[in-house]
Amino acid sequence: MNDLESALLSLSAESGREIVQSYVDLPLVPHYAQLGAPYHVPVDPTPLPEPQFVHFNAGLAAELGLDASATAELTDILAGNEPWPNYAPLASVYAGHQFGRWNPQLGDGRALMIAEIQRPDGERAELQLKGAGPTPFSRGADGRAVLRSSIREYLCSEAMHALGVPTTRCLSLVTSAQPVFRETVEPAAVVCRVAPSFVRFGHFEWFYSRGLYAQLAPLADHVIDAHFPHLSGQPDRYAAWLGEVIERTARLIAQWQTLGFCHGVMNTDNFSALGLTLDYGPFGFMDAFRQHHVCNQSDSAGRYAYGAQPEVGQWNCSRLLLATRPLLSEDQEEAGVLATELYGRYSDAYSVAVMQRWADKFGLREVLPGDADLVIRFLTLLQSGKSDFTRSFRHLARIRTDNDGPATGVREEMADLEAFDAWVVDYRARLRIEQNTDDAERAERMNRVNPKYILRNHLAQIAITQAEEGDYSEVARLMTVLARPYDEQPEFEAYANEPPPDLRRIEVSCSS
Ligand code: AMP
Ligand code: MG
Repeated sequence: MNDLESALLSLSAESGREIVQSYVDLPLVPHYAQLGAPYHVPVDPTPLPEPQFVHFNAGLAAELGLDASATAELTDILAGNEPWPNYAPLASVYAGHQFGRWNPQLGDGRALMIAEIQRPDGERAELQLKGAGPTPFSRGADGRAVLRSSIREYLCSEAMHALGVPTTRCLSLVTSAQPVFRETVEPAAVVCRVAPSFVRFGHFEWFYSRGLYAQLAPLADHVIDAHFPHLSGQPDRYAAWLGEVIERTARLIAQWQTLGFCHGVMNTDNFSALGLTLDYGPFGFMDAFRQHHVCNQSDSAGRYAYGAQPEVGQWNCSRLLLATRPLLSEDQEEAGVLATELYGRYSDAYSVAVMQRWADKFGLREVLPGDADLVIRFLTLLQSGKSDFTRSFRHLARIRTDNDGPATGVREEMADLEAFDAWVVDYRARLRIEQNTDDAERAERMNRVNPKYILRNHLAQIAITQAEEGDYSEVARLMTVLARPYDEQPEFEAYANEPPPDLRRIEVSCSS
């Protein structure tokens, strides 16, 4: 046992810290804090000199019941310069499988939980500062985040939320002239992330891998009591909760696949116990469709390629099941049978969800035999034509069922026109089987699932370059555009375009 582990475990005899619920405006609900050691340690943020707002998410602030104008007091809190009243900030411990390799010791190396609150709608929200300085889990790194990657996380998590994808969110982004050393010197930034919970698969792996089985139940019960209250106290709650997490994860990845979203670092420490998209690093929405697209330059083996994501999601669930096996039954054999059954739920949930989502994208109300073939043929056309994924799907809604003319819009995205025209004949035949629908109604439905605006890498890059020069207006503009991804926004038409040639190969890597 190393020093860090023994320090954590020696604290575990103490109960969770006493926290007074007395913040004037927001009721604190310190559920996670009350778990106490060894689940987390108290750590104060490192102050950030002369913080400046790059963006404040007034919409989310209002949802949280905060003053939407970002008062001076809140600014200091969100930069890590002042504590949230009556809450002692904490860093949690976890482990994880990174690119398939076991890493026994991770944890919040640069993230600190600064509050747990109850929103006016009754939901719980945890607030974390990312980039607020080192913690006992920093493993020699600086605990900081750079402006570049913070802008990407900020924009993408809010874009995903607007797209309807379960995700952590971002409340604020502050920067400072303080230098951070990566490949070059970059400005520091602190993002305030918000989620109902930041518990990851890797939290369970930390305890399981050390044989600390008695610590698994309090953690699982915390997640269940706070976030799956319908399962609270039930004798079979662990299996029921795992079933839900596995199915939510499968459905989440079905959403990623049908939006052309690549996560980039699908390590088990980046997988949420609530099935949220978590940890935005070298992610990317595909421009041209490619089944083997790898968005992360650091992923040389292509482990997390677009086409591999569904399988990796299931593998990650297998790691969660292994780590929680002691919760399933005291009888090893029975636990094994249950775990196998739960593992199988992933494939079932994924196949149903992904096929329904593809059907929605093609304007089909239900999935019929043969539809999968229609989808695969279309994706093959996109791949051979290096066609833009998002635009091609958006244009599909313009195809008329009873018109034998050329399918304008989407046809211009294609290279193999003969194969495409043959596909359109079959697509129109399939559309004619749909009952009670006309082209206008179908187009409207399709435009609610095929976004026009996504966070393309080049759009983020333009905003980053300007922000690094002190102009944050493009970040704000993108926040406006991406908040309504499914609406036509004629004034922002150019934001739907694929990247210009000089911005086609933006490299994103694990460096952040
Ligand atoms: P990530 O690749 O961002 O998911 O991070 C993997 C692990 O490394 C997590 O435990 C992070 O907290 C930690 N980490 C990443 N960057 C830093 C940093 N600059 N300082 C301290 N810890 C870090
Ligand atoms: Mg991470």
